[in-house]
Amino acid sequence: MTTTTHVLGYPRIGKQRELKFALEKYWRSEIDQDALQAVGSALRENSWQTQSELSFVAAGDFAWYDHVLTTSLLLGHVPKRHRQGEIDLDTLFRIGRGKSQCSCAGFAASDMTKWFNTNYHYIVPEFSADDEFSLAWPQLFEEVKQALDLGHKVKPVLLGPLSYLYLGKEVEPSFERLSLLPRLLPVYQQILTKLHQLGVTWVQTDEPILALDLDARWLDAFKPAYQAIDCGLKILLTTYFDAIDSVFERIVELNVDGIHIDLSAAEHPLPALVKALPEHWVLSAGVVNGRNVWRANLNEKLAQLGDIKALLGERLWIASSCSLLHSPVDLELERDLTPETRSWFAFAKQKVAEVALLGRALDGDEAAIHACHQYSQPIIERGSAEHVNKPNVQQRVNRISAAMAERSAPYSERAAHQAEVLKLPLLPTTTIGSFPQTGEIRLQRSAYRSGKLSQADYQQAIKGHIQDAVARQEALDLDVLVHGEAERNDMVEYFAEHLAGFQTTQFGWVQSYGSRCVKPAIVVADIEREQPITVEWSRYAQSLTAKKMKGMLTGPVTILCWTFPREDISRQTITEQLALALRDEVADLQQAGIEIIQIDEPAIREGLPLKVSQHQAYLDWAVRAFKIAAGSAAPQTQIHTHMCYSEFNEIIESVAALDADVITIETSRSNMELLQAFEEFNYPNAIGPGVYDIHSPNIPQVEWIEGLVEKAARKIPLQRLWVNPDCGLKTRTWPETEAALTNLVLAAKSLRRKYAQSA
Ligand code: GLN
Ligand code: ZN
Repeated sequence: MTTTTHVLGYPRIGKQRELKFALEKYWRSEIDQDALQAVGSALRENSWQTQSELSFVAAGDFAWYDHVLTTSLLLGHVPKRHRQGEIDLDTLFRIGRGKSQCSCAGFAASDMTKWFNTNYHYIVPEFSADDEFSLAWPQLFEEVKQALDLGHKVKPVLLGPLSYLYLGKEVEPSFERLSLLPRLLPVYQQILTKLHQLGVTWVQTDEPILALDLDARWLDAFKPAYQAIDCGLKILLTTYFDAIDSVFERIVELNVDGIHIDLSAAEHPLPALVKALPEHWVLSAGVVNGRNVWRANLNEKLAQLGDIKALLGERLWIASSCSLLHSPVDLELERDLTPETRSWFAFAKQKVAEVALLGRALDGDEAAIHACHQYSQPIIERGSAEHVNKPNVQQRVNRISAAMAERSAPYSERAAHQAEVLKLPLLPTTTIGSFPQTGEIRLQRSAYRSGKLSQADYQQAIKGHIQDAVARQEALDLDVLVHGEAERNDMVEYFAEHLAGFQTTQFGWVQSYGSRCVKPAIVVADIEREQPITVEWSRYAQSLTAKKMKGMLTGPVTILCWTFPREDISRQTITEQLALALRDEVADLQQAGIEIIQIDEPAIREGLPLKVSQHQAYLDWAVRAFKIAAGSAAPQTQIHTHMCYSEFNEIIESVAALDADVITIETSRSNMELLQAFEEFNYPNAIGPGVYDIHSPNIPQVEWIEGLVEKAARKIPLQRLWVNPDCGLKTRTWPETEAALTNLVLAAKSLRRKYAQSA
């Protein structure tokens, strides 16, 4: 009676990011398609080898760019502008990346958006009323064959028809993409039939949208859809990232053979679900968290699943909670971790071993049960370790008072104070923080990190870049200056490296989109600021100029969202610890004579839970954390915040509740449309709507900027408007930056003259 074990997918980038490097070489025409194919093939072989101790290996989870895009090709569903000739690998890259850098209208890449609440981004399918589908792209079948030929027992992975439609968007007015379902299902039927012919028995069909708050039309569509794709194959319907118990009674009506639930993302009433489970269904228990780096407490899992195993027997499967795509590949590569820290982690490869071990233990294998106990020890010991759970930090968090989360005066009073001390002109100009990260800066940082450049020399070099940035901003005649963030590789990693309680890794990469990977830091213990982090850089920058220098911090919610959190305390508590550390930094910056401080929160919206019913609770603690950080600022200190990649409409109330004196936001790509929300809400404080898109190398013209500011001025009173780009400038070159900012300053000055005359 062996327990079936599997994972929902495996990282495709390779442990040394082999896929990234091969893709980028291929795109630069340095290798041909055969060479690229060989890399992909070797990566798959490797990941199957790793999974070979499980009951199945996953196939069809590999993607050259993104699995939703692969699904589009499989279904012969290519955006109209990219349909020329046969579908091939280059079609796929054109949809993902656009035809050329200029993304000229006809060949623009498809949109990319976040995959549920992860930091992975997928290519959004584009639907039109006359779309047809057909089996067009053999990758899935070839990969299944490859795995079978290697002797593996294969479970193909397929994005389900409803999630595929749901995750796309209509590119034509007045039709609904759900209406395409009847045309889509026959192709799914063909796919399953073909997999059946290959000798496959089980197919994993991902329908993660079942964990969202689906409206009735979508939910109702499931039953007939799964009725229509009946083909003798067994279907494991997989859900992940949140609970599904509220729709379970609908799920059990479906014509499938089992359900996978994510037991690490949310609590599920397991006994009740088991009771409601159809008699012939399997239950795949996603107990090993696929989207974090923590070693599982297998003791706990054994205890949790023991009774269920007794009830279900072979019908209980053990799995990762979701695809391991969201976790780094292999812990073995890490050289710099202490033995203790290492014993807390499990990356994808180690998580596969956890699933296998847990399966054997549930089967009653004594050695495996013993191994589970041994394996769980470090995690259990961690729970009572004082260097992890620090009494002083916990005490401080417990003592956060309501007053600490409020500024000491209301906005109107603060604004009056600030006007007096800051003496800024109408329509003040500023930038968002970073200036070009030149090759020189990057070289110096890597020399410093590898020990080739001494700390003193590195700091001297950074001072040189700050001097340069200040001189250029003075020459441009900007009103509020920044130091340029030359000392930061990344806005989150920098703070993670300077706060106690974080661990960074050498190879902990996860795919973000296409060939892009990120290496999030890990929160390993209670977070404390042991000494000031940014104060010396800001003080130095301020010493170089008579203009106001803006201090630059990353907000608590953004640090949380872009790191791997702990699993033993809540996201809220981690964020509060961060907020207290930043609060001290704000106080020290102020003490050092910095009168304007920006606390960036670009990620605040993406932290929203998947279920709408949980939004408000999250927003409440997220806003409170920001306010705790800002709360040490005196009334005359001006607090800025910055947000981008955001649709603010649905969270505008919370954006206002942050009570920042100034918010700079990304609006230029939507042509100031976004300001609508601020106007309708009667947003009370000052706003700097970004007047040009920093992601584009194009230089905005003076008249164009003036036009945008005037458009903004029709929605927001002039006295509360700032003029700035829509995000940081680190990815641009200096010539582009200076040309754009020259025009930005000219536009602000010309408008000031115009408004002075009309006053
Ligand atoms: N201050 C940061 C910068 O300018 C903000 C970056 C961001 O919003 N993502 O780079
Ligand atoms: Zn930004």
